[in-house]
Amino acid sequence: MEKGITRSHEVETSNTITIKGILSLLMQSIDERVGRSVISLGMGDPSAYSCFHTTPVAQEAVVDALQCDKFNGYSPTVGLPQTRRAVAEFLSRDLPYKLSADDVFITCGCTQSIDVAVAMLAHPGANILLPRPGFPIYELSASFRHLEVRHFDLLPEKGWEVDLNAVEALADENTVALVIINPGNPCGNVYSYQHLKRIAETAEKLKILVIADEVYGHLAFGHNPFIPMGVFGSIVPVLTLGSLSKRWIVPGWRLGWFVISDPVGTFRKPKTVERIKKYFDLLGGPATFIQAALPRIIEETDEEFFKKTIRTLKQASDICYDKIREISCITCPHKPEGSMAVMLNLELLEDICDDSDFCFKLAKEESVIVLPGTAVGLKNWIRVTFAADPALLEEALERVKIFCQRHASRALGA
Ligand SMILES: *Cc1c(COP(=O)(O)O)cnc(C)c1O
Repeated sequence: MEKGITRSHEVETSNTITIKGILSLLMQSIDERVGRSVISLGMGDPSAYSCFHTTPVAQEAVVDALQCDKFNGYSPTVGLPQTRRAVAEFLSRDLPYKLSADDVFITCGCTQSIDVAVAMLAHPGANILLPRPGFPIYELSASFRHLEVRHFDLLPEKGWEVDLNAVEALADENTVALVIINPGNPCGNVYSYQHLKRIAETAEKLKILVIADEVYGHLAFGHNPFIPMGVFGSIVPVLTLGSLSKRWIVPGWRLGWFVISDPVGTFRKPKTVERIKKYFDLLGGPATFIQAALPRIIEETDEEFFKKTIRTLKQASDICYDKIREISCITCPHKPEGSMAVMLNLELLEDICDDSDFCFKLAKEESVIVLPGTAVGLKNWIRVTFAADPALLEEALERVKIFCQRHASRALGA
């Protein structure tokens, strides 16, 4: 019996798709005989393109922290006090209350923040509500923790808002939390104040936490400004997850945070905090000198750097949106307003049987990589990351257009 249980969990974990796994399979199916440069719009790492570059201020802060020779030792496992304080002050700028350094735990990127949140909430019989489409690290982490996953839909016709009726229908007394990603990956949406408030009120009614993945915080360039979920922390306790990775374009630095945005103290009980601290003893935290650089990175990065990133992302998303309108078998139901990715709906062609087939044939014939929607929970959609060099983005989408035209005419028997 025991053995059977173990085995079934192993299967569950091995069935969980990862974005990196699919992208590496797509890379392998590139046909070198086609003789064209490979353009990947699959992975969200803009640091690969020269138009996305971190600020020299951040690099100097890291170099200085390393060279001063004071940060070669272990840090406290929850993070250096000055690093925790700097994140607390930084996030408090946008909140109606002040976070304290004790509310902040320093992690190896937002990926680890996700795993901490899932590990802290998992217990036998519990379940968590995740968005569909979503970010598969949540499913992967939940499967390792044996935490049951239930999906609610994001509604494309409503700007990818959360289907709150579905949330209410899915939740029961064993539900621990609801996850939102805002600005959204994979959809590129940015939620309004009103919608975030309704999410908070729904979670409060259901007596569940909100996990707010704000790794794209402030990367908004459409109608709605970015509003952190923590603004509604007095309605419902919020676990705020974030990192330097996306806004500072340094995903390889592995510096993130797990923050308890709970001014009323519903969740932040001494016992809970003790348990989280113990768990961090197991993690050890990111490199001390990167942590030590963070206060200066936050302090000294000027607005112009952020504005430039936003301008470049907006320009890239416009190119993407305009180019997609020229392609008859692909539609974009909601123009991206933030983050670095957008979901596009595929109309299937006769010799293309689904989204994976589309992506594999596209890789093979055009040396362009995009992510099948199945990887983020939506079959027959694709996710395109537009955080790329504008000229390459245009070239890649031109190849997608030609690919679609070729397969459409094949379908017509031409
Ligand atoms: C990139 C990303 C993460 C992971 O961030 P890291 O800081 O690189 O670990 C988490 N959540 C979402 C939605 C992301 O897009």
